[in-house]
Amino acid sequence: MSQTPAWDTESLALRDHRFLWHPFTQQQKWCEEEPIIIVGGSGAMLTDSRGRSYIDGNSSIWTNIHGHSHPAIMGAVSRQIATLDHTSFLGTTHPAAIELAERLVTLFPMRSLSRVFFSDNGSTAVEAALKMSLQYWQLRGHPRRCRFGGFSGAYHGDTAGAASLGGIGTFFDSFAEIHFPTKRFSNLQELEAFPHPEELAAVIIEPLIQGSAGMRVWPSGMLRELRRFCDRTGVLLILDEVMTGFGRTGTLFACEQESVMPDLLCVAKGLTGGVLPLAATLVTEEIYKAFLGTAEEQKTFYYGHSYTANPVACAAALASLDLFDTERTLENLQPNISTLKKELERLRTLRVVSEIRQCGFIAGIEVMLDPTTSTSYPWQDLTGAKICAAARNHGLLTRPILDTIVLMPPFCITEKQIIHAVDAIALAIKQICLA
Ligand code: PLP
Repeated sequence: MSQTPAWDTESLALRDHRFLWHPFTQQQKWCEEEPIIIVGGSGAMLTDSRGRSYIDGNSSIWTNIHGHSHPAIMGAVSRQIATLDHTSFLGTTHPAAIELAERLVTLFPMRSLSRVFFSDNGSTAVEAALKMSLQYWQLRGHPRRCRFGGFSGAYHGDTAGAASLGGIGTFFDSFAEIHFPTKRFSNLQELEAFPHPEELAAVIIEPLIQGSAGMRVWPSGMLRELRRFCDRTGVLLILDEVMTGFGRTGTLFACEQESVMPDLLCVAKGLTGGVLPLAATLVTEEIYKAFLGTAEEQKTFYYGHSYTANPVACAAALASLDLFDTERTLENLQPNISTLKKELERLRTLRVVSEIRQCGFIAGIEVMLDPTTSTSYPWQDLTGAKICAAARNHGLLTRPILDTIVLMPPFCITEKQIIHAVDAIALAIKQICLA
């Protein structure tokens, strides 16, 4: 019988507070409380150092697909690490990356995205897409196409280029001075009215749903219209499927739902099933070909990272793709999407719930002080954070976006666990907002 290790929570907490700096975290407050120290994961559940179990309500920051410690992915990872742990992708290549690139290309109709450029995370997949777009137009003799179009509320990552296209002021305003030249639009109509599309190298969008904006769903047909705009004006279309990719919206990729093919597409988070960091930027053959030439022509795409196409991460991604077939992941996800929809309906009876937004297996539940007059809670109250803290005591671990509670668990979650997760949110909202 395997024995659960005993964790010294106090010591770990003390050392975390002493040595660590967490992302997107107000450290002063963080250091005032004992952190949840996650020590185990299995299926849709996480366990902490005090032996408490939680449903992984946000799939460990939107990454996990098939559940934690899936034996097929663990097996593939351990076989790969025993054979080849890492090798440079500058000047050499390896079988796992070759096979993964081929598999990714075949996921798109008529192999319209025919080339795969690997990097490490969502931000770098976007960063590479932006730089590729810029250099593509230089190589094509259109250097004036040097600005990017993005949307208000967007989030594309935190590297300087990706952050330039972010439309959330709180996150990005401090770095505005060093951002790429960007034009931000609040909707498609505003973009269509922009008088200088010939200055735009590319426009980037989170298809179907904006994540960090608070799980905000785009109007139906918008993506198709955006593709038409790009066709008319020559602006490249970059789809950021970092959150939506690999089944999250109910289809393998969100763009399938509007039959749209981009010029560049970014994937990360779920690519490895949410197990290891790996990202890819897929591009059309036309873009790739612009970079072909002799060394003297300086057409090389000068971009890369030390861990580009790490073999272990590639092996995890291949195993994850296999699971989509062997476990019929997308087929099995559909009843979970319906259960989630049905269960979330219950929350509408709570008078502070102003909106429930769902796209596939992504949900955002927004609370307001007074939904009838659209009056929000003062942001300083941190109502969403308090609800999520309360939900932990009912066995659900998730994070809010302001006062929107995110619910997007791993696809393998059971019906009973979905009901439990929604119960936990209901109890937490009652406790924090209605007591
Ligand atoms: N793009 C989107 C749509 C995202 O949601 C995120 C992260 O949440 C990113 C890019 C950045 O990904 P990463 O955190 O892996 O850099």
